[in-house]
Amino acid sequence: KPRLYSGMQPSADSLHLGNYIGALLQWKQMQQEHDAFFSIVDLHAITVPQDPAELREKTRRTAAQYIAAGIDPSASTLYVQSHVPAHAQLAWVLNTITGMGEAARMTQFKDKSAKHGRDASSVGLFAYPILMAADILLYQTDIVPVGDDQRQHIELTRDLAERFNARFGDTFVVPKAQIQKDSARIYDLQNPTSKMSKSAETPAGIIWLLDEPKVTQKKIMRAVTDNDGVIAFDTQEKPGVSNLLSIYSAITGSPIEAVVGEFEGRGYGDLKKGLAEVVVGELEPVRARALELLDDPAELDRLLAVNAARATEVAEQTLAEVYDRVGLLRPA
Ligand code: ATP
Ligand code: MG
Repeated sequence: KPRLYSGMQPSADSLHLGNYIGALLQWKQMQQEHDAFFSIVDLHAITVPQDPAELREKTRRTAAQYIAAGIDPSASTLYVQSHVPAHAQLAWVLNTITGMGEAARMTQFKDKSAKHGRDASSVGLFAYPILMAADILLYQTDIVPVGDDQRQHIELTRDLAERFNARFGDTFVVPKAQIQKDSARIYDLQNPTSKMSKSAETPAGIIWLLDEPKVTQKKIMRAVTDNDGVIAFDTQEKPGVSNLLSIYSAITGSPIEAVVGEFEGRGYGDLKKGLAEVVVGELEPVRARALELLDDPAELDRLLAVNAARATEVAEQTLAEVYDRVGLLRPA
């Protein structure tokens, strides 16, 4: 089976509908035909300031939501990044073959450091893509399902793999990105031209997986639309309505045209009501299962430990080969 790697930052108490449709649903589907590794990337999360107690809690909550959404921790390897020390160790080696200029070209760092200010931005934030390359290369990954915003980081990962292989001998599989379809990209319900995001400034347009059904319903009923009152899919002219149609289509599995056909000639209220029903129906069992898992943190931690051991086994093999290749003397 081809090896698959992906992950999310534990950067909020709850994941959102964008994470669910854009990542978790795809992962769940892909875990059958792949040897899949799904990580909760806490080392990435600390590249911006985090409250320590909250970070621990967010890490557990993210794990619970992976499982509740259908990631099977006995079929896939679902683990916390910092439980496998080889991530940080390989990242160090990759730092030494990455050019300063090359790293400085990464647009995510440029965006994030512009937001936080250059002095408030850590070296860790700068090196984020190199740690991400280590995550992927440690597992000899074939395929990395990611959003379009990660395309540049995967290119860097491939460059680093090829450079290492050329300089020190064949060591890494050169991975391929599988870029998420446009239709799997979900936008903020209040601000439908920006993507739904954990770190959005206002939460009114975010559907959290752990929201109560009533809250979810209310957020959908209040979603921003437009004034022409016609249900049609047009992401340029009608971003709000198009987003609602996309969500409906992604969850029901029926194509956009079919959804448009179903609601044609009806009002936005009908579309929102229908959508609220579909979203609540989908998310309610996920929420219930996640809360159940979080009720027994010891059992959840045990599951994560078993999975981390499995990840460590694979990661340690790659790391040992890398250390050997670059000439680090191994302890006797
Ligand atoms: P942050 O704001 O902290 O970056 P995020 O909401 O962007 O959080 P990530 O942890 O960066 O979430 O991404 C996790 C996964 O969810 C990635 O695979 C990403 O492509 C996907 N994802 C994030 N937001 C959306 C969205 N609005 N629509 C579809 N997929 C999304
Ligand atoms: Mg993001």
